[in-house]
Amino acid sequence: MAGVSIRQARKAYGSTKVLHGVDVEIGDGEFVVLVGPSGCGKSTLLRMIAGLENITEGEISIGGRVVNKLPPKDRDIAMVFQNYALYPHMTVRENMAFSMMLAKAPKDVMEREVMRAAKILGLDVLLDRYPRQLSGGQRQRVAMGRAIVRDPQVFLFDEPLSNLDAKLRVQMRSEIKELHQRLKVTTVYVTHDQIEAMTMADQIVVMDGGHISQAGAPLDLYDRPANLFVAGFIGSPAMNLLPGETRDGAFHAAGGAVLPLPPGLAGTPKTYGVRPEHLRLDPAGIPAVIVLVEPTGSETQVTLRIADTQLIGAFRERVNGRPGDALRITPDLHLVHLFGADGQRI
Ligand code: ADP
Repeated sequence: MAGVSIRQARKAYGSTKVLHGVDVEIGDGEFVVLVGPSGCGKSTLLRMIAGLENITEGEISIGGRVVNKLPPKDRDIAMVFQNYALYPHMTVRENMAFSMMLAKAPKDVMEREVMRAAKILGLDVLLDRYPRQLSGGQRQRVAMGRAIVRDPQVFLFDEPLSNLDAKLRVQMRSEIKELHQRLKVTTVYVTHDQIEAMTMADQIVVMDGGHISQAGAPLDLYDRPANLFVAGFIGSPAMNLLPGETRDGAFHAAGGAVLPLPPGLAGTPKTYGVRPEHLRLDPAGIPAVIVLVEPTGSETQVTLRIADTQLIGAFRERVNGRPGDALRITPDLHLVHLFGADGQRI
């Protein structure tokens, strides 16, 4: 096993700059998720680690060895792709053994390694099937099996679950995390789904437009987003981010809501952030009007207006109100996030 170190990595396609100097330290055995909106450069970075893209500038090392000039096959990595990339004319066994076949491994070693990986993934009864005879989840497992057989120093995953339906995605998410807990192989996992990032990662790297916006443990990013981008990206439903002005010890949001500020504030917030789950129903709170009620069963999401400022609350209680009804709410003051004119956390 090995850590991965990315230093000042830059990527340009001709004159188009895609990564602008990215630093990431991935510890030995760590599960790191690169997350960000489509086009932010996460697949490019993953493919640079894999050796499928040249590194325009900077340095990537795996296990202390600079790999910039090494071809993919010499990097001791295994990659799992979104489309599984299984060979349709080969059985599960042959698909899983393929890399060892290429390396001309002895037959008994091949059989042993395939069985080891198949047992880990519960594929041992499917070894003689062809990919077309498998469900989406089983195909995904074969793709992972092929990676495990190689016994690599690092696993790379490129949006491996995006072709699966919602329920299976949740199940495979747990399987991959469990697999990591068992094998403890350093893993870099790309997704645009912040829930996947939150639930799976030891460390999340949030990317935005070819830059790293923030890196840290999932709950640190949730508790202390460093800037507006991370505040809006991590968390579901998304944080309410209200632009406005600080006056007379209170925050005056555009649209007219006046919101309390935490005591001892240093700085002049220009954006007031509060997560929907950090608004409380409170008979003595700020008067609001219900716009929309969306019960999910476990909680109720309510879109509401204070004057002309719209925000979303997520309440554990059931809210039986209808659009137009009055409601009073209070933000949990110690869980409010404030950002300055530069978009950085205060
Ligand atoms: P993500 O994985 O975050 O969706 P990508 O890494 O795939 O983003 O792409 C980052 C940016 O690089 C995008 O703007 C994309 O259009 C651009 N890009 C990716 N591959 C190429 C290429 N081969 N030539 C030119 N631009 C590319």
